[in-house]
Amino acid sequence: MGLFSKISQGLKKTRDAFSGAVSGIVSSFTKIDDELFEELEETLVLADTGMPTASKICEKLRERVKQERITDPSQIKQLLQAVICETLEMDNSLHLNTQPSLVLVIGVNGVGKTTTIGKLANRLKSEGKSVILGAADTFRAAAAEQLEIWADRVQVPIVRHQEGSDPAAVVFDTIVAAKAKKSDVIIVDTAGRLHNKKNLMEELAKITRVARRELPDCDMEVLLVLDATTGQNAVNQAREFQHAAQITGIVLTKLDGTARGGVVLAIHDELGVPVKLIGVGEQMDDLQDFSAADFAAAMLGA
Ligand code: GDP
Ligand code: MG
Repeated sequence: MGLFSKISQGLKKTRDAFSGAVSGIVSSFTKIDDELFEELEETLVLADTGMPTASKICEKLRERVKQERITDPSQIKQLLQAVICETLEMDNSLHLNTQPSLVLVIGVNGVGKTTTIGKLANRLKSEGKSVILGAADTFRAAAAEQLEIWADRVQVPIVRHQEGSDPAAVVFDTIVAAKAKKSDVIIVDTAGRLHNKKNLMEELAKITRVARRELPDCDMEVLLVLDATTGQNAVNQAREFQHAAQITGIVLTKLDGTARGGVVLAIHDELGVPVKLIGVGEQMDDLQDFSAADFAAAMLGA
């Protein structure tokens, strides 16, 4: 299956809700007026773009309609797709060019961190890179076991310590092992829940410090994993994590299970952080690079 059809299939629920609603609105108007824009804005909010982003998109749409002297409502849908694509365009690629480079994967419990790591390790390996995993979610033994299952499946080495040990020490040891093995990419799993939120944020800050200290000149991606099915809640989580770590990108998972795909727009726009990868299923190849054009097309396609 091609990349676009995979994204398209993964966004089916969002498209069914959003694209249909936009078509419905557009076909019920004979001219382009304020009411049409208001209805579109409401539809965007329903797809979980959030109010500020919905207003901005409609504002851009109005400008384009004026600029291009568009009078026929039937042209609105295509224009909206173009505006959504523009809104989403940022540097969406992973920067992992040094040897080693490091990917730190953070986010609350259950969003899909460990699964994403398995998928990403598989992907990098198939691109010819050597990968090593660090099990720095030491809060629960089951977490490291789950990562180990992925390491076996993908056939990559893993560094793990005992339950309850210091996650920063796991990161340190993983970096040492990576240097010895000349690994290309280190991927670190982290805990999503500790005794309290303050603890979690302090721990992430410590892990980041250790990684930067040990690999000062290396490419480092800090990927925040968010579950698309939680809609605006995902945006709130991102705000909190932004305080603890310098997030370089978002992985938005479970887009296949929700009609709230518009949350991608809220994340880009409200947080200024690019979505770099999307999860569209539980299989190994269900992790996709984010493409603004493909995403906009998948959201608004027929
Ligand atoms: P973690 O606690 O953040 O490490 O989350 P896990 O990786 O353990 O994932 C939690 C659940 O979400 C598991 O059942 C995964 O199979 C599921 N999951 C992760 N990513 C996706 C996705 O893109 N789509 C779907 N449908 N399920 C996913
Ligand atoms: Mg996990």
